Amino acid sequence: MSTLINTLSESQDTPDRAFEVIRQRGQREVFCGLTSIVWLHRKIQDAFFLVVGSRTCAHLIQSAAGVMIFAEPRFATAILEDRDLAGLADANEELDAVVDRLLSRRPDIKMLFLVGSCPSEVIKLDLAVAAKRLSKRFMPDVRVLNYSGSGIETTFTQGEDGCLAALVDDAIPVEQGEKSLLVVGALADIVEDQFHRLFKARGIENVQFLPGRSANTQPEIGPNTHYLLAQPFLRDTAIGLDRIGAKRIDAPFPIGVEGTTQWLQAAASVWGVDQETFERVIELPRSRAEKAVSRYRPLLEDKSIFFFPDSQLEVPLARFLKRELGMPLVEVGTPYLHQDLLGPELDLLSPETRLSEGQDVDQQLDRCLAAKPDITVCGLGLANPLEAEGLVTKWSIELMFSPIQGYDQAGDAAELFARPLVRKRRLAV
Ligand code: SF4
Repeated sequence: MSTLINTLSESQDTPDRAFEVIRQRGQREVFCGLTSIVWLHRKIQDAFFLVVGSRTCAHLIQSAAGVMIFAEPRFATAILEDRDLAGLADANEELDAVVDRLLSRRPDIKMLFLVGSCPSEVIKLDLAVAAKRLSKRFMPDVRVLNYSGSGIETTFTQGEDGCLAALVDDAIPVEQGEKSLLVVGALADIVEDQFHRLFKARGIENVQFLPGRSANTQPEIGPNTHYLLAQPFLRDTAIGLDRIGAKRIDAPFPIGVEGTTQWLQAAASVWGVDQETFERVIELPRSRAEKAVSRYRPLLEDKSIFFFPDSQLEVPLARFLKRELGMPLVEVGTPYLHQDLLGPELDLLSPETRLSEGQDVDQQLDRCLAAKPDITVCGLGLANPLEAEGLVTKWSIELMFSPIQGYDQAGDAAELFARPLVRKRRLAV
C-alpha cells in the first residue's frame, strides 16, 4: 500500500494544472463491473448479458438486479466449476451448450454479451475467442461480443466502458460519409430524447447514441464522426473511437446547468451554430433548470461534502455542487483521474481542491472522520459504518441509477444530495 502526493502536471503530460493529488494503491471498496449490467440491460432492449462466472457472481447479479425480476430477465450466469487447464476444452463446450440452449429458447435475443469475471477458471478461458466462434455460428441472427466485469480489473462503471468498447469494435466503419454526432454513454431514454430535441433544434440532425436502444442500431463510425462523451468513465471506449478515426469533442459533462450548457455548446461550436441561435434554443430549458437547482441552494449551501472513490462521476458532481450550490469540497476521490477526459472539468475547479485517485480505505476513512463533512458520498459497504459514526451518507450507486444528466434533471440531481440532509433533520426533531 502506498501514498503518493504529486501535482497533476508532474504526473501526466497535460496542461499545467496545479492540483495536489493524493494517489493511493491500497485496499479499495467498490463493486465490480458486473454491476453495470443492471442499467445496461434496461438500455439495450434486445441484448442478453451472460456472465461467465462463479456462484458469487450469480448472487451479486441476482441481488443487485433482483428489483428487475418482474421484467423479462435479460441476464444470467453460466457457472464454471473449478477445473484445471486440461479441462478447458470441456469448459468451451459447456459454454457453447449453454449459449445453444439460451438462444433456442429465446429467439428475441439479437445481441449476446459474454461477460468475464474473476475466478481463475474463467480467466483461463479466452472469451474473445469464444465470442468470435459463437458469432460465426449464429450469424446473422445474433451478434456475440465479450468484455470483462471482473472485480480484479474493473470498478463498477468500468463494466459499461468495457461493454461500449466492445460495441465500438463491432461498429460499422465508414470511410467518409456525412458529418455525424455520436453521443457516448448510457443515458436514460428520457434524457436521450431531450438531448436529441436540443441538438435537432440547433440543426444537428445526424445524431447517434451509443449504446443504441436495440442491437439493430449499430453505429456507423468514421473520420467524420465527432463524439461527445456523456459519462466520464469511458476511457477504453474513447481509445477505441480514436483508433478508428472519430474525433472527440472536449467538454465538461452534462451534469447541472453549467455542465449541460458547456457540453451542448461544445457540440454547437463544432457544427458552427451561431451564439444567438444557441442561446435561443437553450434559453427556456436553462432557465427552468436554474430555477429547479436554486430551490435546493438554501439546504445545501455551505454544507461540506466528501467523495469516496466509486462511480467515477465524482469530479463532475463535485464541480456542480461547488459551483451551482455553494458546497465546500473536503475531498474529491475518484478511482481514476483520467485527465484527458476530465480536463475541462478540472479547469472549472479551484486548484485548492483536494483530489485523490485510487484508494487506501483505512487512511481515507481517517481523513473523512477527522474532517466530519456534512455529507459523504460513498459505496454501500462504507455507508453503514460511516452512519454509525454519525455522518450523513449518500450512496454513489444511486447516482448511476437515477437520471441526472441534462437541464430537466439538474434539479433532481441537487435533490439527491439534499434528501439525506432533510432526513437527518427530521430524525433530529
Ligand atoms: S468481484 Fe469477481 S467474483 Fe465477485 S461478483 Fe464480481 S466478478 Fe464475480
